Amino acid sequence: MTDSIIYNEVQQANADYVAGFGDKGGLALPPARGFAILTCMDARLDPAKYAGLAEGDAHVIRNAGGRASDDAIRSLVISHKLLGTKEWFVIHHTNCGMELFTTDILGSLLADNLSTASFSGTEWSNPQHGGGSPTGKYINWLTITEQEASVLDDVKRIREHPLVPDTIPIYGFVYDVKTGRLNEVKDATDAGRVRTQMAS
Ligand code: ZN
Repeated sequence: MTDSIIYNEVQQANADYVAGFGDKGGLALPPARGFAILTCMDARLDPAKYAGLAEGDAHVIRNAGGRASDDAIRSLVISHKLLGTKEWFVIHHTNCGMELFTTDILGSLLADNLSTASFSGTEWSNPQHGGGSPTGKYINWLTITEQEASVLDDVKRIREHPLVPDTIPIYGFVYDVKTGRLNEVKDATDAGRVRTQMAS
């Protein structure tokens, strides 16, 4: 037991979910609609809602920024190779937290102290000092300077990965947190198009 309010809320919510679970226990493991979404962990984004997913429909891979990190690519390769997805979406979003710092800034904040930092609207600072670790300076945090450029970079990185077959179209989008709309990044979708074999 715990007095965490969140802990208890999650337990209660799950009990309610179980009560209405119905026949979802019979869902197949491979995603029924055969696609995957790579997107940001931002709490305002709900891929099930913005892309119309039900349980069992699609893979959703999330991380800070929705970046094509090595680990995101690991999941995408498994998604296709073992679980049969045939189309992928890379979806970043407006007002992403990953635009608000740089790899250097986060490395320095962590080197000083591990507690939650504060943001003035222009810069980050640590309310407490001491007990940090320089380990953060050795990590590429995959921050973002411009959303459309980051989507294009990530689609290209996935497209060019040696373990990703040319037959999977990769679509690039920026989700607008003000309207809920998915705006396509045409250059990214173009870079992610299926590569047909040249006749030899
Ligand atoms: Zn984000």
